[in-house]
Amino acid sequence: MRSTAGPALPDMGPDAAPPDPHSLPVDVVAERLRVDPHAGLSEEEAERRLRRFGPNLLAARRPVSDLALILRQFASTVVALLAAAMALSLLFGEWQQAAAIAAVLVINAAIGFFTERQAIRSMEALRRLGARSARVRRHGHSRRLPAEQLVPGDVVLLEAGDVVPADMRCSEAAGLRIDESALTGESSPVEKGIAPNVVEAPLPDRSAMLFKGSHVVHGGGEGVVTGTGLATEVGRITQLVETAERGETPLERQLALLSRQLVWLMLALAAVITVVGIASGRPAVLMVETSIALAVAAIPEGLPIVAALALARGMLRMARRNALVENLPAVETLGSTTLVMTDKTGTLTENRMEVERILTPSGEFSVDHRRAVILKDGATIDPVADPQLVKALLVGVLCSNAEYDSHARSGTGDPMEVALLRAGGIAGLNRDEQISAFPEVAEHPFDTATKRMATVHRSGNGHFAAVKGAPEEVLASADRIGIRADPLDDAGRARWLRQVDRLAAEGLRVLAVAVLPETGPEARVSGGLVFLGLVAFRDPPRHDIPDAVAALRGAGIRVVMATGDHPSTALGISRAVGIAEEGAAVTRGAELPCLEGATAAERRAVSRGAVFARVSPEQKLELIDLFQESGEVVAMIGDGVNDAPALTKADIGIAMGERGTEVAREAADMVLLDDAFSTIVQAVREGRIIFDNIRRFSTYLLSCNLAEVLVVGGAVFVGLPLPLMPLQILFLNLVTDVFPAFALAAGEGEGDVLARPPRPPKEAILTPTQWRIMAVYGAAIAASALFALVMAARWLGLAAGETTTVSFLTVALAQLWHVFNMRSRGTGPWRNAVIGNRFVWWALALCLALILAAVHVPVLAAALQLAPIGAQGWALAVGCSLLPLVGAHFWLGRTGRALPRWGAGARELARE
Ligand code: ATP
Repeated sequence: MRSTAGPALPDMGPDAAPPDPHSLPVDVVAERLRVDPHAGLSEEEAERRLRRFGPNLLAARRPVSDLALILRQFASTVVALLAAAMALSLLFGEWQQAAAIAAVLVINAAIGFFTERQAIRSMEALRRLGARSARVRRHGHSRRLPAEQLVPGDVVLLEAGDVVPADMRCSEAAGLRIDESALTGESSPVEKGIAPNVVEAPLPDRSAMLFKGSHVVHGGGEGVVTGTGLATEVGRITQLVETAERGETPLERQLALLSRQLVWLMLALAAVITVVGIASGRPAVLMVETSIALAVAAIPEGLPIVAALALARGMLRMARRNALVENLPAVETLGSTTLVMTDKTGTLTENRMEVERILTPSGEFSVDHRRAVILKDGATIDPVADPQLVKALLVGVLCSNAEYDSHARSGTGDPMEVALLRAGGIAGLNRDEQISAFPEVAEHPFDTATKRMATVHRSGNGHFAAVKGAPEEVLASADRIGIRADPLDDAGRARWLRQVDRLAAEGLRVLAVAVLPETGPEARVSGGLVFLGLVAFRDPPRHDIPDAVAALRGAGIRVVMATGDHPSTALGISRAVGIAEEGAAVTRGAELPCLEGATAAERRAVSRGAVFARVSPEQKLELIDLFQESGEVVAMIGDGVNDAPALTKADIGIAMGERGTEVAREAADMVLLDDAFSTIVQAVREGRIIFDNIRRFSTYLLSCNLAEVLVVGGAVFVGLPLPLMPLQILFLNLVTDVFPAFALAAGEGEGDVLARPPRPPKEAILTPTQWRIMAVYGAAIAASALFALVMAARWLGLAAGETTTVSFLTVALAQLWHVFNMRSRGTGPWRNAVIGNRFVWWALALCLALILAAVHVPVLAAALQLAPIGAQGWALAVGCSLLPLVGAHFWLGRTGRALPRWGAGARELARE
């Protein structure tokens, strides 16, 4: 680090950026910030500054306070209803009932509070996982750091796809273009450079500054951090307060709507029961109380809360499996995904490239990396003796942004460029030495449209450009070949293209190298190239891809490859991993523009393809359109800066955590933290499980509520004594429904979730099958409780309070057993997701203990109007409570044929 101290700035203290850094030369800004841009800060100094300036955050993340969370629990229709019920109870002088309703209120709020708190904490944990990073130079070395840790004076390295992590004075720029629309509203990218601007230049005209939150869309560069956190332009203009709050997902909204609708249905039913009860001569007060209790009990206020928990827990499970969901609704969409569109390089392949073959006009060479030698016709050669080979390798070493450490045998940057540096090293070409000999004066960064990259170098008094890129593009711009610059005609180009095909057919990734000799420093690399040869890289498929592709197929999901690479390479890899079958054809990007005018049949034909090669990011957008048009729900994997629109357009955009650009991550709904394609399979699995669980507990909770309404309603209509007392209804609602529902929400799913087709995306949470099941179970529980009530009086001759205890216990126990009806079709009664869910067993044990306490602890028994019923009474209650389960067993058959497959779509059910 340079130790020259700049003049102290009294208003800002030492180490702070000077005012108006855009108007000062870079070295003045760097000097004031006491940093050498070539070395960066030292770690100790950075740490000191971090303490002084604080983390680089726009606002301290304000977690939702516990108090705010508690208060939020009391702001709902259900609470208002409960309060009204309490007021009515007080009006009737029913102190016990009023106290019980107060208890319901408190317990309900407590459950809501703890559930929501857990959901929020899970979200916070997820957010920490999703922290952004920046490439920084410190102590002379570049490394990745969490962007939060940047301090004024840090030197940040930027490349296309990065999000600018702090305000910076640009200190190096190569074709650097920045999208500042988030800051200035200007939609077209602006060019950045190091020349100072006039002091009064407005924000959009400060071409020497890079602003936090903007995106690098093209080129690369470096900058010295001048402001972090709130001391940045975006920090100044926004008062963005990030809390840990999150929006509702469509699924949660659907559940909330369902609960609200059911509130009115239940209130109407309660009113009918009251009127009929009073009309048939029952005490009016008792009937009003019963209706209040019924209304309170039957309202499914737990649904949205439990759904939030199920989502949060599921997302945490997904994150543990390296799938970080950035956008909640994606969880639901995952379950209905029908097509995954993936690129190739780095997603399906290892992205640990090695140069395997080099073809120059002087012959074909292969590289033995283990021995670090180059071979020709099987024999080791001295590469330096072949000037054609040396020149081809030199272009690969010069035209690069990567770094390679030959001692550590590792590098940073684009793996293909690292591989070129490694191969160059074998021929004695060290990048630092070559750059000293041929200093780089300009760079034309890689562009997906031209598919090539070029760097301009000084050589003696002149300049030349080193070019590398897709062979067909480079060859098309070349008219000479080799170090003697012999003429290259169409026949020659065709011969080389055949070589490209031959290498690509082996699954190799092929790149062409060329030079533009005797050019100026401002070289335009569009034609007149001298072609030097081909470099072929081995980038083998990851070993877990074939299984992952097969698993997705098994789950009814199509996998399609859309790559920027050569068709033969694409086909080779896609065959190896099982995406393309024998004899499958490749669709080339060049064939896609005709889609606009294509007939519906032609479009459909294209949409059936599995391998698309040499497609540009814009064409990926077109492809998504095509797939969506044919009814697919598309998940797209992308990592480049240009992939952002397609990631947004896809139903689920998936970005890579390690390799992907920050821009892609921002556009994506989900990030694969380990960059592994197979993680998608896990994500789909978890997504389906979450949805299944939400369906499962909704069906459970609603059928329990329905049972309570039906048992009371049924008794009133047929003229039986009330089978449940008001407080008993409240107790059931708090105990027997809630805990098993939570347990179902936390379930880890069935083994076969991936063996079924995706769920139709528009399908409601509760399908007709689910409603039918709820009606049947609700009625069965109600009927067995009424049967128990009658038997208790007739057979056992129990008194009024005792018969009610029997019917209460029957409902309570039947609801507990009812949880076992939540297994899925195709699973046996003894081996299924419910039996295997340890939370269910805990919930049952807890509920049983609470029920026993209700009957045997005198204070509770008195409050709940429960009486001792003796062994016979218990036998009757237990026996009758088992009837719905046993009945269901016969109705459903061993394999549960009438049960829903929780995740299965209506279409599939109809088909069966
Ligand atoms: P995928 O789309 O599967 O990631 P890809 O990396 O081949 O594959 P692109 O990044 O669009 O796709 O690249 C298209 C082509 O451009 C490559 O096949 C290669 O020939 C060329 N290319 C890629 N990166 C560079 C680079 N850094 N310099 C020069 N040429 C490159």
